[in-house]
Amino acid sequence: MPIDPTLPYDDQNVFAKILRGEIPAKKVYEDDYAVAFHDIAPQAPHHILVIPTGAYVSWDDFSGNASDAEIAGFVRAVGAVARAAGVVEPGYRLLANIGVDAGQEVPHLHVHIFAGRPLGPMLAR
Ligand code: 5GP
Repeated sequence: MPIDPTLPYDDQNVFAKILRGEIPAKKVYEDDYAVAFHDIAPQAPHHILVIPTGAYVSWDDFSGNASDAEIAGFVRAVGAVARAAGVVEPGYRLLANIGVDAGQEVPHLHVHIFAGRPLGPMLAR
């Protein structure tokens, strides 16, 4: 069920629980600003989620309210995760769903990294 991104942060969301270590995740990266782990239902050979460690609902919330250090740390982490996964060549796709029309399901900002095969058109036609 897509979430309403204008709602306040819900600290019971599944990624908040992963950050607190309350539920397991196959982590591939962790620093002060970001954590990355494999998606539980991969849609490509590589499907990794990168999330900020701060409590931000969406890209809208994060870009408007996070500190410069948090934003820089998160963006650098996305790049580092892709490099460590070995997907810079032949390429990868970043995707962030924000709000209802995008079908965002988990109300903690996350960027999907897809790679490992030709990924096709950007949007279903
Ligand atoms: P969204 O549709 O919000 O952009 O993507 C949410 C993603 O989170 C989906 O790809 C879904 O498979 C993934 N996901 C949902 N619950 C869990 C979980 O408990 N663990 C992991 N690793 N991924 C999850």
